[in-house]
Amino acid sequence: MANGICVYAESYNGELETVAAELVSAAKGLAETTKEKVQAIVLSDHAEELVKELDKLGVDEIYAVKADHDITLQDDAVSAAIAEMLKKIEPSAVLVPATPQGRSIFSRVAMRLGCGMTADCTEVLAAQREDGSFYIKQNKPSYGENVFVTILTKEGIYPQMMTVRPGVYAACEAKESGNANVKFFDDIKIEKSGVEILEELPAENTTDSILGAEVVVVGGRGVLEDDNFELLEKFAEKVGGAIGGTRPMVDSEMIPFNHQIGQTGLTIRPKICISFGVSGAIQHTEGIKDTNLYVAVNTDENAAIFGVADYGIQADLKEILENYLTL
Ligand SMILES: Cc1cc2nc3c(=O)[nH]c(=O)nc-3n(C[C@H](O)[C@H](O)[C@H](O)COP(=O)(O)OP(=O)(O)OC[C@H]3O[C@@H](n4cnc5c(N)ncnc54)[C@H](O)[C@@H]3O)c2cc1C
Repeated sequence: MANGICVYAESYNGELETVAAELVSAAKGLAETTKEKVQAIVLSDHAEELVKELDKLGVDEIYAVKADHDITLQDDAVSAAIAEMLKKIEPSAVLVPATPQGRSIFSRVAMRLGCGMTADCTEVLAAQREDGSFYIKQNKPSYGENVFVTILTKEGIYPQMMTVRPGVYAACEAKESGNANVKFFDDIKIEKSGVEILEELPAENTTDSILGAEVVVVGGRGVLEDDNFELLEKFAEKVGGAIGGTRPMVDSEMIPFNHQIGQTGLTIRPKICISFGVSGAIQHTEGIKDTNLYVAVNTDENAAIFGVADYGIQADLKEILENYLTL
C-alpha cells in the first residue's frame, strides 16, 4: 500500500538546493496529519555527501542512486531512474520543487507512472476522507493567476505528485546529524542520456538574489509614475537591496514575473523590506508576512499596508527617495 510523503532533493554540483529543506518542511507538515514517514530521494554522482546533508534535515528515510557520471540536465535518463525508484518506494505523495529541473524531470516521471502531476502549488494540505484515508489538497493559482484552485489526485491513484513553488515554505533547520534509514538502490542505473552539454552560460535571471536577499525594496503601482522607478533602482543599489514588486509592476513590464511578490508570486523572508507605493492587498502581503522588519511609504493614510508595516511613512515616495539619494 502506498505510504510515505516523499521529497525530491534537488541538487547542483553536489550541493543540496535550499528548496529541498523547504519541501521537507512541507512534507513534515503533511505527515503530522497523515502520520506517514517523511522520505527523500536523491540521485547524483555526489550521492553519499548529499545523503549526509539530507539526514541533517530530519527525514525518516532516504533513498539514493549513485550516478557514475555528472547527470546535470540529463532529464530523460534521470526520470527513468526515478520512476524505478518510486515503484520500489511506493510513497503516497511526492513533493517536487517547481523549478526547471523539477518540472522537466517529473513531468516525464508522471508520464512513466501514469499518475498525473499538479504543477506549481503554493499550498499543500492534508485532508481525510470519511473512510479514514488521507489525501492532499493541492492549492495553486490558475487561469492566468486570477483564481485559486484546489486540485485532488483521483482516489486510488498513487503517488499524488505535485510541484511546489520555491520560497513558499520556510526551510527546516539542519541539525548536527540525523538518524534516517538510508537505502542505496545499487540495482538502478542511470542510463545514457540523449542530452549532451556543449557549453554552460551564467543564469540571466536574479530570482535567487531576491529569495536570499537580506534587504528587499518593493515597488507598487505608485512607482509607475514619472521617473519613480529609476529612483527606486538607485535607492535599492544604495541600500544593497534586491528589487521586487506588486502585480501592476509586472503587468506594466517594469519587472519580470519572477520578481512579483505575493500569493501568485514569490514569498520572501528578508531581514528588511521597504515598500514604496504599495496599497497592501492581501494577495500581495501574503508574500511578505514573514519579513523581520517592514517599512512602508504611501501617501494614503488609510492604506492597508500601514496595518502590516512595522513602520509607516505617510508621504510621497518621490520626495522620500530623492531626499535619501542626496544624503
Ligand atoms: C487571484 C489574485 C492573485 C493576485 N496575486 C498577486 C500577487 O501575487 N502579488 C501582487 O502584488 N498582487 C496580486 N494580485 C493583485 C492584488 O490584488 C492587488 O491588485 C495588487 O497587489 C495591488 O498592487 P499595488 O499595491 O501596487 O497597487 P494599488 O493597489 O493600485 O496601490 C497603489 C498604492 O500606491 C500609493 N501611491 C500612489 N502614488 C504614490 C506616491 N507618489 N507616493 C506614495 N504612495 C503612492 C497609493 O496610495 C496606493 O495605496 C492578485 C490578485 C488576484 C485576484
